[in-house]
Amino acid sequence: MTIKIPFNVPPVTGKEADYIKEAIASHKICGDGSFTKKCNAWIEEQTKTRKALLTTSCTSATEMAALLADIRPGDEVIMPSYTFVSTANAFVLRGARIVFVDIRPDTMNIDETKIEAAITERTKAIVPVHYAGVGCAMDEIMDIAKAHDLLVIEDAAQGVMASYKGKALGTIGDYGVFSFHETKNYSMGEGGAILIRDEANVEPAEIVREKGTNRSRFLRGQVDKYSWVSKGSSYLPSDMNAAYLYAQLEVAEKINEDRLQSWTAYYEALAPLAERGVIQLPVIPKECRHNAHMFYIKVKDIEERSALIASLRERGAAAVFHYVPLHSSEAGKKYGVFSGRDVYTTKESERLLRLPMYYKLAEKDIEIVVDAIKGFYRER
Ligand SMILES: *Cc1c(COP(=O)(O)O)cnc(C)c1O
Repeated sequence: MTIKIPFNVPPVTGKEADYIKEAIASHKICGDGSFTKKCNAWIEEQTKTRKALLTTSCTSATEMAALLADIRPGDEVIMPSYTFVSTANAFVLRGARIVFVDIRPDTMNIDETKIEAAITERTKAIVPVHYAGVGCAMDEIMDIAKAHDLLVIEDAAQGVMASYKGKALGTIGDYGVFSFHETKNYSMGEGGAILIRDEANVEPAEIVREKGTNRSRFLRGQVDKYSWVSKGSSYLPSDMNAAYLYAQLEVAEKINEDRLQSWTAYYEALAPLAERGVIQLPVIPKECRHNAHMFYIKVKDIEERSALIASLRERGAAAVFHYVPLHSSEAGKKYGVFSGRDVYTTKESERLLRLPMYYKLAEKDIEIVVDAIKGFYRER
């Protein structure tokens, strides 16, 4: 059976091509053109962060954060093992040792009660990952960070338009990072952003992003020439990519509502199966407003998941899973260590299955997926 309901369809709103043409006509398609500025301003306005800067990816935004945090060889960085490789790689590139902490089974986020036991005198930062756009327990995490004088870098790759206790994800820690990869809620193909909470860190961030130069100050007329002032690299995306993204940010509310509607449709249709204890549905803590980045279910075990994926595929729907826990990967073993016991990370990651979720996912397609899941369990 060919796939009729893909897992992901990148968002397109209709204005993208016009805006790219505009960028081309402006004869300024390098970094920090007018669309990049519009995107930065949109993020600042929407999240209330002090400063937002578009980057070439969330990976590069995390690398920037690792540079800004002055991570050095031997430093330790705490994060969940259930995450994308870039969360760890950005710090490994600076010589850090990764200390993995178990997740909570309800949200799949880092278990804040297990962080303190992972802290040593070498610990420099905590990196909470807001899985599926559902916020980590940021009050508790910020308290721990304050008590031990640690930096907090939020991996909010999946968290654009989501919040914790009214604060936008990515704005609570010292730095936050967003992804605008094609698989995320808002896309520019490849891209991301870094969010900077404190004024004192804004200029260092501009410098790191501009190859270690003070070009941003120069362009604002604050210095009369620009030169190399510190470590840095090139993390600016082309303004053509920013033009593509801006077409989506402009209608972010509409995209968000559409996704939330699909999420709720899945949730309500699958609730009877969850009530019978056949599957589990995602948990959204009351202090969190999520963004429907993902709809996942949890099944009995890895065998049942493989069978369900095959069964959905037979009915034309693509369902996927992800994140082989980093601590069990080749590089994870080399560069990291698991703190305490892996109670939930491996077990829960093997049970999780992501259903098709994208902007403008048709109601009838959701019904097909739901019916396929129900049929699968009737036959078992
Ligand atoms: C997508 C993702 C990233 C990486 O984003 P890129 O923009 O592709 O670099 C990092 N962390 C998490 C949790 C992600 O989901």
